[in-house]
Amino acid sequence: MDTTQYKSKLEDMLKEIETQLEELAKSDPSEAGERSVHNETEDRYMETERGFRVNEIIEDLNYKKGEIIHALEKIDNGTYGFCEETNEKISEDRLKAVPYARYCVNHQDDTATEPVS
Ligand SMILES: [Zn+2]
Repeated sequence: MDTTQYKSKLEDMLKEIETQLEELAKSDPSEAGERSVHNETEDRYMETERGFRVNEIIEDLNYKKGEIIHALEKIDNGTYGFCEETNEKISEDRLKAVPYARYCVNHQDDTATEPVS
């Protein structure tokens, strides 16, 4: 199997995620520009809410980053494209949709964020 296209796709995804993580780190709510002095209670509430959502996004991005790095390692050691459960081949259609898939459709991890087919 030719993994070149998947490798470059995964590397692009990794770069994209790293850029997003950098931007999120920069947009730390505690450093968010000027704030109005009035309505301080609501302000604080909004910041907490926002901080919470940002943390969720960061967690999600870090998870995906780990999956992509794992897939790149599999390309390097020649196990890419095989289900981690049974070693059967993962269909190329699936790899095109989810290049960092660890499992074939029969053994896919339900917690993974994947497009519904
Ligand atoms: Zn499988």
